Amino acid sequence: MSVAVNVAGNWISGSAVATGGPAHTVINPATGEAVAEYAMATPADVDIAVASARAALPQWSTATPAERSAVLAKLAKLADERADDLVIEEVSQTGKPVRLAREFDVPGSVDNIDFFAGAARHLEGKATAEYSPDHTSSIRREAIGVVATITPWNYPLQMAVWKVLPALAAGCSVVIKPAEITPLTTLTLAGLASAAGLPDGVFNVVTGGGADVGTALAGHRDVDLVTFTGSTPVGRKVMAAAAVHGHRTQLELGGKAPFVVFDDADLDAAIQGAVAGALINTGQDCTAATRAIVARPLYDDFVAGVAEVMSKVVVGDPHDPDTDLGPLISMAHRDKVAGMVARAAGQGGRVVTGGVIPDLPGSFYRPTLIADVAEDSEVYRDEIFGPVLTVRAFSDDNDALRQANDTDYGLAASAWTRDVYRAQRASREINAGCVWINDHIPIISEMPHGGVGASGFGKDMSDYSFEEYLTIKHVMSDISGVAEKGWHRTVFSRR
Ligand code: NAD
Repeated sequence: MSVAVNVAGNWISGSAVATGGPAHTVINPATGEAVAEYAMATPADVDIAVASARAALPQWSTATPAERSAVLAKLAKLADERADDLVIEEVSQTGKPVRLAREFDVPGSVDNIDFFAGAARHLEGKATAEYSPDHTSSIRREAIGVVATITPWNYPLQMAVWKVLPALAAGCSVVIKPAEITPLTTLTLAGLASAAGLPDGVFNVVTGGGADVGTALAGHRDVDLVTFTGSTPVGRKVMAAAAVHGHRTQLELGGKAPFVVFDDADLDAAIQGAVAGALINTGQDCTAATRAIVARPLYDDFVAGVAEVMSKVVVGDPHDPDTDLGPLISMAHRDKVAGMVARAAGQGGRVVTGGVIPDLPGSFYRPTLIADVAEDSEVYRDEIFGPVLTVRAFSDDNDALRQANDTDYGLAASAWTRDVYRAQRASREINAGCVWINDHIPIISEMPHGGVGASGFGKDMSDYSFEEYLTIKHVMSDISGVAEKGWHRTVFSRR
């Protein structure tokens, strides 16, 4: 495995910087073996990184769109050339199956970088309508400034790209803190950005824990925007820290996606979609299908079909291209998932398949289907973030949509039906940032991602994400050329 054993914990002002913070070992969750050692940042390093981003801002924010676009296009090319290394790093630090990293995480990240290289040249403001004979207006869209970004461990490279690239394309400078257990691909990305010609200080990385480094970054006085992807409780802490200075935030938080199967659905498609949607990234996906809500006439066949497909899923070494499901991120997280499944039985749930820890060295857990879950049960309410799908039946369409919306979260959902009216109604009435029809999971650089309710607010990806990283400035110009404007009379009537 060609992963660096010792890495510098920070990337500041265009260089790898070793720090004096606490030592941290990146663990491969499939084996428990050490992948890399590094010293985490300290809150003092956060100050240095923010100062570096502040110093770099004037040059980058005034670069022409063409200049910014050229650097980002080069970054996409370099990331593509280094795709194999990025795949190995991502698989080693997260345990995700190599097929997923090779076909989804890394090419998806490269495509997203490429998208923002192009989008950087399409920043525009609306021009005025001639609302007055004496004035005209223009709209300037300016980089918001220094962006602090905090990301989770489940898709380390993609989450970094989703936050950093629109910021760079908009002309912002960035300090990012990846999750301390998965810093490798974010550090590699920053190095590639420098190699692509990004000016020093525009893209800085500080590594470290949430309580010290994360808190210092989220609550830093000299940043202009805090963007965050992670859990809902931590997102609220980040928002509170940023609010002390009145800083804007953008939050991509947890999810509990409903997967609604109407009685006219293609059952085979729904079964396959449910298994893929529930198990992607070992279920450690904020949009994963977690609550199947199925029409009573299809219920038994759906449960039997999903259980059969799940039982055939290959769990094992994530570096093996034949593996479908890798380990959970850590033993502690696996024990949390196992505990929730064990308690589900006591809360009326029926474990149809899975619910077992396989005899493997890492933090593995078998794909699990729990039928007949109660509406107030923990597995139905709380984010499990593991390879676990729960199922409930519904009686009619009103009941289906009521159950779909019976959650504080609102990130993603899907509706399975061949009836165009049902599909339209579901897409209108389900409270979520994304509703898929007859599919679940696909994302695309051109389209926005982001939630409502406890899933946060704001958008990643697509042109919509620029709104997070830009301010809108109104410039109003007199075009009459006269000294005594008509409106002056409302203030003084005689000269
Ligand atoms: P987490 O909230 O525990 O941590 C996320 C990041 O916040 C990490 O970098 C962590 O070090 C940092 N952090 C922790 N405490 C902090 C604090 N007090 N102040 C500042 N930073 C702090 O989340 P996680 O376990 O890494 O990731 C899983 C969660 O992320 C799930 O809830 C999942 O749904 C969510 N997620 C959401 C999206 C989305 O797009 N909505 C995408 C991926 C993951």
